[in-house]
Amino acid sequence: MLYLEDVDIKGRTVLVREDFNVPLHDGRITDENRIVSALPTLKYILEQGAALVVCSHLGKPKKGPEPGLSLAPVAKRLGELLGREVPLAPDCVGPEVESMVGDLQAGDVLLLENLRFHAAETGKTPDARGDFGRRLGGLADVFVNDAFAVCHRENASVVDAPGAAKTCSCGMLLKKEWEYLGEALREPARPFVAVTGGAKVSSKLGVLTGLLGKVDHIIVGGAMANTFAVAQGFEVGRSMVEDDLVDAAADIIDQARAKGTTLHLPLDVVWGKSTSDAQAGGSGAWGDMPQDAMALDIGPETVKLFVSVIEQARTVVWNGPMGLFENPAFADGSEKVCRAVAGLDSDALTIVGGGDSVAMVGAFDLADEFGFISTGGGSFLEFLEGKELPGFRALKECASQ
Ligand code: ADP
Ligand code: MG
Repeated sequence: MLYLEDVDIKGRTVLVREDFNVPLHDGRITDENRIVSALPTLKYILEQGAALVVCSHLGKPKKGPEPGLSLAPVAKRLGELLGREVPLAPDCVGPEVESMVGDLQAGDVLLLENLRFHAAETGKTPDARGDFGRRLGGLADVFVNDAFAVCHRENASVVDAPGAAKTCSCGMLLKKEWEYLGEALREPARPFVAVTGGAKVSSKLGVLTGLLGKVDHIIVGGAMANTFAVAQGFEVGRSMVEDDLVDAAADIIDQARAKGTTLHLPLDVVWGKSTSDAQAGGSGAWGDMPQDAMALDIGPETVKLFVSVIEQARTVVWNGPMGLFENPAFADGSEKVCRAVAGLDSDALTIVGGGDSVAMVGAFDLADEFGFISTGGGSFLEFLEGKELPGFRALKECASQ
């Protein structure tokens, strides 16, 4: 895989796949973080004297173009941030777009319209995707993928476009993901602790299994821990449980023992009658919880245990809050665990990823204290699982052509 710095782009046309899937409210961008994060790659390309074409998806358009999911607000904001005009093409492929790209001079920027206005972008078969992806990649001399959040998807702009450009490379944002996550997995300083939580075991099963034997400790909190509690034989009242995954949870408990990873499960929990309760109903061991309540946070004994494990860590990867942190009544466990990770000294590598987890770190105002904040959700999980992501595979194949 080539890095952007390895490629001579002066005087060439460079197409960058970014992740500009920003949240919009009434046509306004409510969080511009994804645009800001892309600036180093985009500015570098312009400074090298290339013509810049940028593409992205936005939301989930169902059938063709939807005005509410146009990238127009992004074009406007990107222009302000780059200090130059960023016109929006009416589409992302086709004769009109080709002619607009052909007219670009070094230092010019063009944003293509939402990739997902074409169903072929997310086409389920290579045939459905390939032609669209090749037309997209064929627009430029150099294709750059900088969108980690979609690297686990077999989308046209991720897997088909790279091979259609003459050269392709990984952008600066993607390189950072590759290096930080790669370092954590390839040569982790130990103890290596994985902190897992969030809503569902089903979305994290692969990661849990993939990390067994690789990490020294796995901490399990959040609603996910409830399914493990059932596997341990506890009554969990009305807590969120995935009944069909109780056996899988039991299997992970057994495998952890066999593979030398210590699994840490909640000793006590904080409960409530409803997720919107203004105050927690109480806390204690599983057996103390009334059967009409549900576990919504880890308890104080568990916080102590998890914090003591984290304090020894030299590498931490985290996905999934410890409780329903959006409600302050159930945020304590997540906050204390977050402070423990944030408090590690700077030679410990600390990484957090996942949409809600990153929001959580932001909500506690601790983002600056983490070593690395991944831009991926599903891609972050699949990388940790040990899978080769299609986006990286495409860049490697393209580099060895
Ligand atoms: P991420 O987006 O970081 O991958 P998830 O989507 O898996 O994380 O999970 C985050 C959600 O899980 C949060 O919205 C949080 O409120 C919820 N959650 C965590 N613990 C519990 C719990 N005990 N009961 C209900 N919901 C929970
Ligand atoms: Mg989530």
